[in-house]
Amino acid sequence: MNKEAFLIDLEKLCAAQGIPGFEGPVAEVLRGCFQRKAIETRIDKIGNLVAHLPGKGPRVLLVAHMDEPGYLVRKILPDGFLQLERVGGAAWNALPGQHVLIGTENGAIPGVVGMTPPHIAAGNSPADLGRLFVDIGVRSQALAQSLGVEIGSPMTCKPVFQVFHERVAAKSLDDRAGCALLVHLAEELAGTELPCDLYLAFVVQEENLLVGAQPVAYDLQPDWILGIDATLTYDTPDLGNVYSDLSLGKGPAIKIMDHIRGRGQGFISHGGLRKHLERLAEQENIPLQREIATGISTAAAPLPFVQAGFPVAALSFPLRYSHSPAEVADLEDLAQALDLIKAAVRTPWNG
Ligand SMILES: [Zn+2]
Repeated sequence: MNKEAFLIDLEKLCAAQGIPGFEGPVAEVLRGCFQRKAIETRIDKIGNLVAHLPGKGPRVLLVAHMDEPGYLVRKILPDGFLQLERVGGAAWNALPGQHVLIGTENGAIPGVVGMTPPHIAAGNSPADLGRLFVDIGVRSQALAQSLGVEIGSPMTCKPVFQVFHERVAAKSLDDRAGCALLVHLAEELAGTELPCDLYLAFVVQEENLLVGAQPVAYDLQPDWILGIDATLTYDTPDLGNVYSDLSLGKGPAIKIMDHIRGRGQGFISHGGLRKHLERLAEQENIPLQREIATGISTAAAPLPFVQAGFPVAALSFPLRYSHSPAEVADLEDLAQALDLIKAAVRTPWNG
């Protein structure tokens, strides 16, 4: 992987605002990336962006999601403060004191999420989303509205992109790092002869009930599908690898199973396709963790059950502090994920 070029694209992708239903800015960045190599893209009726790299062999669909969890303005108070509703599993407990951006027709409006100063707060009581409020520096509801803020305006944290020694911290690495991997896969493969007919889908509304990817699978009828998304790690002092050994810096993870209890959402990778990927990782000397995680799901989850069904597996990159404004990923994990995806395209599974 050309890490420098990858980081430039990743920063642009993470900076774009794209909560479920508002992914347009992310699609625009992606379209610009694909134009560099004149790779054909199209956007379907619900906003999914699909890139095509023609080749001879099985039809292969790789999927990453464009959206990020975030917030909608649900109420504008008479004194100009904004109240919020959550979209997807955004970490609202990380909001107090954050700089945020509210999307409007006139561009993004900056604001901050208010909090009671520690001088006044009786203790460190946890935040309650219903009581959080955003201050955009205006004195009245009418002024807020004149800036273009309305009920339903999307809000995300202000992007901060920090490259550490071997790692990167940003909002929405889930799943913009997956998007950036597919962009750089296409950059490396463009103009080469492919042993498969390759489609790259950047889908909407994963964070909202995982619905976005289904029309793409229905439309393309691929022979198999691989989803690329973030997974949780358990290697921090608060979690201590008690539930799982999934860690940052130990390579990408092949998803065995995930599940969100109580929501009826879950995914199990297709056994044959998963074993093919595991064999490729071994041949290519790519370290591969095995992922069993609860509390998460992924855009690929409903795809085995579209129409007559498709073989689907999921490859994950480990991510700390998921859905917070400061997610952390490891650049070597991402480079190794790209190597494995490349191997899967060059030696496609034939069922
Ligand atoms: Zn994700």
